Amino acid sequence: MSLTIGVDVGGTKVAAGVVDEEGRILERIGRLTPARDQVKTAETICEVIVELAGRHDVAAVGLGAAGFVDESRATVRFAPNLAWREEPLKRRVEDMVGLPVVVENDANAGAWGEARFGAGRGEENLVCVTIGTGIGGGLILGGRLYRGRWGMGGEVGHFRVVPDGRLCGCGNRGCWERYASGSALGLEAKALGMTESGAQITEAAAAGRRDALTAFGVVGSWIGQGLADLAALLDPGCFVIGGGVSAAGDILLLPVREAFATRLTGRAHRTLAEIRLAELGPDAGLVGAADLARSG
Ligand SMILES: [Zn+2]
Repeated sequence: MSLTIGVDVGGTKVAAGVVDEEGRILERIGRLTPARDQVKTAETICEVIVELAGRHDVAAVGLGAAGFVDESRATVRFAPNLAWREEPLKRRVEDMVGLPVVVENDANAGAWGEARFGAGRGEENLVCVTIGTGIGGGLILGGRLYRGRWGMGGEVGHFRVVPDGRLCGCGNRGCWERYASGSALGLEAKALGMTESGAQITEAAAAGRRDALTAFGVVGSWIGQGLADLAALLDPGCFVIGGGVSAAGDILLLPVREAFATRLTGRAHRTLAEIRLAELGPDAGLVGAADLARSG
């Protein structure tokens, strides 16, 4: 049995686990990310790998990193929430741990995890959309992770949906993630006079509060519109929706599915892609990165 280590490197924490060929996590450990220091962040990653490799016979390591990763899957070119700029992460970690390492964008790793072991099992063409503070995207086309020519593909959160719209963290205005993410949900709730944020808005909606349901309706509608646009381009068999906002379940999915079904081009004459909730939760990136280290 071949074991690999998956590491999910986020802005606040480093989560690592030993994963088998069936996507099961045999052991996991975590550390806080020293996000302001790129050398210390790499050292923290190495610490968790060395600790796990000391207790398990592992063949390779996959790192899922929250940033733009180059096409050779070696360098993090830019990470908005970490200190990395042109960080040679593959070489740095390989030198310290003595195992083969692949680096992958975290949303891509998560999409691969869902496609292999989660909600997208058995589907060769799918789009994974992770809805948190922003929106991450991962494309599986023809059974393979699609990275684009330079490794930057699948950044669906930055489709411009409103000319001169809300300012985005990427520097552009009107990006989809400014209207269809957790932050957008907070903005809609605030505009309706709500003072709650995040999980509290979901709780209020679950309790049937009209203002919270309205906020979900607006954001869900933006999400469904975006999925319809993605379906026009890619015609996937299913969409997998993950991230913190997806914890709302049907409260979110109902307006998403309605907007998707009423706005998709050619809707009366095609099979509608399924819209499913992700199954692996916060483990998707770790499990996907570990599997990519195995399968390349
Ligand atoms: Zn943007």
